Amino acid sequence: MDRKQTVLIVEDEKNIVDILRFNLQREGYETLEAFDGVTGLDLILEKQPDLILLDLMLPGMNGFEVCKTIRDRGLNTPVLIITAREAEQDKILGLGLGADDYITKPFSIRELMARVKTNIRRQTMNSGGVPNTAANRLELGRIVIDKSAEQASKDGQDLELTQREFALLTYLAANPGRVFSRQELMERVWNYEGYVGDVRGVDVAIRRLREKLEDDPAQPRFILTRRGAGYLFQSE
Ligand code: CA
Repeated sequence: MDRKQTVLIVEDEKNIVDILRFNLQREGYETLEAFDGVTGLDLILEKQPDLILLDLMLPGMNGFEVCKTIRDRGLNTPVLIITAREAEQDKILGLGLGADDYITKPFSIRELMARVKTNIRRQTMNSGGVPNTAANRLELGRIVIDKSAEQASKDGQDLELTQREFALLTYLAANPGRVFSRQELMERVWNYEGYVGDVRGVDVAIRRLREKLEDDPAQPRFILTRRGAGYLFQSE
């Protein structure tokens, strides 16, 4: 853990890259930069950064394609999307691109740095070489969650979940039957302390998770909605 962590910035606006580099380096991160998507992708594959800050509108290959390509190649590096439009939120979280988080321009540097830290920390915790003991395994009927391998399965079949979907499932499933509010999930799963903004991202993530988890996403049996209250996990 003494190794400096590396953040790759993929962004074509030079002044934003300058601000990001300055602040990341001040916080002790190494930085890499790419001003277009193809170069970004090359650097991701070659240097394996600890986190990727990814702009969506890029010359050549756009951010959506970059994100999809790295997930298709099996890399689970945290991706924090930088977007100019709030309206893109559903698209980012909903398209199954495998982005972990997003931030809207113009963003506060303080918030961005907090998100960088959170996303790297979660990744480090998830892959921290924890022994595969019973505590790292949740067996819930048809669903089995292996926390150390960061893998969930249903009926013995591995589920292709993003990091966020896995975290969400694990959080809910650790307390079967308990209802969690969107606010609570935002704070605990997304680690946004005192988050008071838009919690629709939780609904989008739940919808994506159900599509992968449920036999019939329209009639969920594992992740249930309690109207006006939130969500709960129920094992069969
Ligand atoms: Ca751009």
